[in-house]
Amino acid sequence: MRVLVPFGARKMYEVGYVVALKESSEYKCKNIIKIIDRVFDEEKLEIAKWISLKYFCNLSDAIRLLVPPGTSTTFDKIKEKTEKCVYLNEDIEIDIEKIKSEKHKKVISFLIDNKNAPKSVLKEMVDVSDAILKTLEKNGLIIIKDVHVSRNPFVNKKVEKTTPLELTEEQKNVFENIDISGYDKYLIHGVTGSGKTEIYLQLIKKVLESGKNAIMLVPEISLTPQITDRFLSRFGDVVAILHSRLSPGERYDEWQRIKNGDARIVIGARSALFAPLDNLGIIIIDEEHDHSYKSENTPKYDAKEVANQLALMYDIPLILGSATPDVKTYYEALNGDINLLKLEKRVSKSGLPSIEIVDMRDELASGNKTVFSRKLYYAMKNAIKNKEQIMLFLNRRGYSTFIMCRDCGYVMKCEDCDVSMTYHLDENRLICHYCGKTKQVATVCPECGKKNIRYFGSGTQKIEAEIKKYFPEASVIRMDVDTTRVKNGHEKILAKFRDEKIDILLGTQMIAKGHDFSNVTLVGVLAADSSINIGDYKANEKTYQLLTQMAGRAGRGDKKGTAIIQTYMPDEFSIEAAKEQNYTKFYNTEINIREKLNYPPFYDIIITVVSGLNEEAVKTEANKLYGLFKESFSPYNPVPAPITKINNEYRWRILIKDNIDDFKIQTLYEIMSKYRKIQDESVKVSIDINPNNML
Ligand code: ADP
Ligand code: ZN
Repeated sequence: MRVLVPFGARKMYEVGYVVALKESSEYKCKNIIKIIDRVFDEEKLEIAKWISLKYFCNLSDAIRLLVPPGTSTTFDKIKEKTEKCVYLNEDIEIDIEKIKSEKHKKVISFLIDNKNAPKSVLKEMVDVSDAILKTLEKNGLIIIKDVHVSRNPFVNKKVEKTTPLELTEEQKNVFENIDISGYDKYLIHGVTGSGKTEIYLQLIKKVLESGKNAIMLVPEISLTPQITDRFLSRFGDVVAILHSRLSPGERYDEWQRIKNGDARIVIGARSALFAPLDNLGIIIIDEEHDHSYKSENTPKYDAKEVANQLALMYDIPLILGSATPDVKTYYEALNGDINLLKLEKRVSKSGLPSIEIVDMRDELASGNKTVFSRKLYYAMKNAIKNKEQIMLFLNRRGYSTFIMCRDCGYVMKCEDCDVSMTYHLDENRLICHYCGKTKQVATVCPECGKKNIRYFGSGTQKIEAEIKKYFPEASVIRMDVDTTRVKNGHEKILAKFRDEKIDILLGTQMIAKGHDFSNVTLVGVLAADSSINIGDYKANEKTYQLLTQMAGRAGRGDKKGTAIIQTYMPDEFSIEAAKEQNYTKFYNTEINIREKLNYPPFYDIIITVVSGLNEEAVKTEANKLYGLFKESFSPYNPVPAPITKINNEYRWRILIKDNIDDFKIQTLYEIMSKYRKIQDESVKVSIDINPNNML
């Protein structure tokens, strides 16, 4: 249970959780002030304990996942929303003919037709004042009362009902091979547009018919109306949607609908795993390779691992789906630990898009210094002429990604973080993408005093300007972190692109996933290399996935699609394999590299980062920890992290490669407990197993 307890000298009240009962305690106890509510059951508590052990966090951090996000400490700030509703007084017989006032008559006849109505709606529909309603209430004809209403983010939304589609032979084969009666793990490896989502819909229908409920995870940024509409139109309002862009009130209400049993299907980002859904019957993780399933904040849990734990606990199936599976998942599938199910054909007539690679070195050599290769330029001109739509992808936001002095080579860096600052045209300022600090652009080099400051590296803002210059006949809309900050920013841009037939959608990786625009025939990737040299064991995998997902946006309707990929490294195997759309070829090369370098799935990578304001203390503490690790593991020497400073805090890193089983987790846990007793309080320590990035 969630309780309120007095805490500390100032008698502040804090929210606490009762996780066990004891007869006596070695501590001095105080009284619980108030019992708030029962937020989780024994099974969920088991999961929280498992998370706290496995991901090295406090139990309270893990428990925080189980309460409605944003309400763990502010439970009393989010009140249920009520609204005044007007009802006909059913205790008396009303003869409408006897009512003299026309206005009164209109209200009563409206209520006879509609039984009841929110006061605001009634006032608008019948055009009456509060005074009239008050009189009617005083005369006993109507009753006005407060009614709880749901802040449903989808009200006012009309969705047409759809029915299950006749499955293709391939789909049928996959569907029939999934047994919903007990625990098992499945990977649906299906090319983009092969009908995976339709299979999810039909699996969920089957689970609901068996009396159980379903959770489906999708990557945060592909949680668009397009995907949610497909579920709403098939299942109606038993669908609850959870994502971080809901207001705390909306989230609270969705949480309540799930708890009450009104919602039986939960769709959401990784934290939706913890929704208070009873009687769980299936967990589906779409685009299972997506990095957003791994949390980068404490608890640094992996949603796929937690989902597996839940599936085991409830004895239900776990379904993973992707066109470009995580190398680790695929390895397990080939080893027989996961059932591998394949979809090799697109449902649509047009088939998979064709992919062409352009070597940008050739463009430079022939005097083309623009960001558009000739091939892409003419393909775009053509598509615009034919009224077909284009998606352009670039993985860098801002205008220029670094500012350098041509004379001395000085690069403008954030003073608090060891990263170069990005020039943003809209603000006409330099912005640090790590801490958000901004700075005036210098015209004189602070290092050598010369006036040779130049801008390098194009970001999406610059490309937008270039598009306007080279394609003045076309309309363009940009989608990146900077243009989507407003509420429902993503949805608005995507709707505009679709409904107003904007010619070009330009954006960062948030345009790569899940979108299904039938009129898009051309996809351009401006710089495929930007994810290759990022000093990360997952770099090849990320490149292959991104290119395949991006190309997969083209030709989803009846017209054939084309993707043009620009690169300075056309011989990289991840780019070559993406061109051939050959996952197996990519996988076979990649898995060999991973084995040689002792990377996952062969070994786990454990990264411990020690950070703090005082560089000496950070270094000393990193060495202290290293000494402790050495007793049970073979850690690499502590070194400054690739990004040596973020937000003024210095960072040192200790890397361990090992096979982490339950026993070793326990050992790590004990080392950390030992360390915490001798730790210098000025530093922070975080441990992450198989992190998304190693920076
Ligand atoms: P994926 O999730 O693999 O990208 P989708 O489920 O979105 O694929 O399917 C791609 C398109 O094909 C969608 O427009 C979908 O409505 C359509 N589709 C899927 N299955 C069928 C089917 N069995 N019959 C007809 N159309 C289908
Ligand atoms: Zn910074």
